Amino acid sequence: MHQILVLQCEQEISSFNPVPTEYASFDIAVGSALIDANRQADTCVRGALDEFEARSDVTVVPVFGAKAPSGGLLRADAFRRIAGELLAALREHAKGADGLYFALHGAMGAEGELDPEGHLLEAARGILGPDVPIVTSLDLHGILTARMLRNMTATAVYHTYPHEDFIDTGARAARLLLHIIDTGARPVTARVKIPALVRGPELFTKSGCYGEIIRNAKRLEANGTLAAAMLIGNPFTDVPELCSQSLVITDGDADMAKREALAMAADFWQQRERMHAPLVSLGDAIEAARKAVAPVTFTDAADAPSSGASGDSNAILRGLLEHGYRGRAIMPIVDAPAVERAHAAGVGAVLQLAIGGSLDPARFPPLTMEVRVAMLGDGRWRHEVSGLLGDAGRTAVLEAGNTTLIAISRSVHLADRSVFLAHGRDPLDFDLIVIKSPGAYSRFFSFAGENFVVDVPGATTANLPLLGHEICARPMFPLDPDVVFEPAVEVCPG
Ligand SMILES: [Zn+2]
Repeated sequence: MHQILVLQCEQEISSFNPVPTEYASFDIAVGSALIDANRQADTCVRGALDEFEARSDVTVVPVFGAKAPSGGLLRADAFRRIAGELLAALREHAKGADGLYFALHGAMGAEGELDPEGHLLEAARGILGPDVPIVTSLDLHGILTARMLRNMTATAVYHTYPHEDFIDTGARAARLLLHIIDTGARPVTARVKIPALVRGPELFTKSGCYGEIIRNAKRLEANGTLAAAMLIGNPFTDVPELCSQSLVITDGDADMAKREALAMAADFWQQRERMHAPLVSLGDAIEAARKAVAPVTFTDAADAPSSGASGDSNAILRGLLEHGYRGRAIMPIVDAPAVERAHAAGVGAVLQLAIGGSLDPARFPPLTMEVRVAMLGDGRWRHEVSGLLGDAGRTAVLEAGNTTLIAISRSVHLADRSVFLAHGRDPLDFDLIVIKSPGAYSRFFSFAGENFVVDVPGATTANLPLLGHEICARPMFPLDPDVVFEPAVEVCPG
């Protein structure tokens, strides 16, 4: 019997969100609770478990899982505690292990440790020793660091954006790990770092040019390489090794891995300008929305909690009021103080409330307005996108004229329709729907006549030069002018 350990530590941060992530933001699952949490979910861990459990010669040992919604930089004490618990659990189960599957995101960041995944992998390698294969799964927004690369055997990376292949990626990672154990394959990884950060609709793998690059990676995987990927990093995770990178893993064939990684990187670099998001000014978007066939969507990717933003932006709300927009508009907003006031007053109450900016007042000065409390909620609903139960804290539906605000207490993923439907509001009944997610409109709001990706402030704006990166290597497209790409391929083990 092969004993396979399963670990998980997944979060994605925006360094530009002023609200730090706390330990309490993480769902911790120890032992069999890790299986229970993922059994019905659309997650990498579930995909891996399905593969392992299909094999009669594999014993799965669920060790420890930690998963949090995206947010600001993780507090130092919180990361120390998570790392301590995870590694203690690993030590307990390390004896006799034949392999480790480690589900990571890749875009974590903690105070004092800007490469948390590298820290965990290095420690895990230290505990398991050099011979136990460690295979990870990574989000394509992950930042694969040199330390991560040195301390893992291989990895499988998402092939879709917006992400739809969590289960598939976990399954690929599991098959890769089993292949290494079964055949004694010796993975060689080649990667090429590219000084470019990209964001926008051309990244949608079904329709954009990034999809062509990914399809090439999939062709490589279908034709003898162990894994291939094009990681774009999370442009909001300002850490030293932030970049885009191509990655090809072969069984011992370093030349092939190098050749393909270089070709993929050259292809990506050539298309960087095209992958740079076109944004519409809020004023222009509102004018266009007035004339468009309803409903239309405004994508507020700048305030996307799923990318690490605070979720408390009132920038579009302010714009609609200033421009005298008269259609029926609906939008979610993270605003715990407003929710508390609404709960205290009760359904039907009319209140003067300061809306927005409860977490990031410097970006979003609060907006005082009269609202009617239309509904109160407990903030627990199942996300369409993941099948996972979310906890947004208490909620309130607030109406101000033709505008409906769904105020929630905590930043949770708003990457599908569930926040609206859970409050009895069908987005189809509105003229203008604000979506706080970069890609949800293409997957869940395709009924809308038009989508506008608006240029508004936020910790995850696609207007990347506005953010003020201070840590990542420079020069970097599009933060700097005239960036030159001199391809250099790294091979691991080198
Ligand atoms: Zn991602």
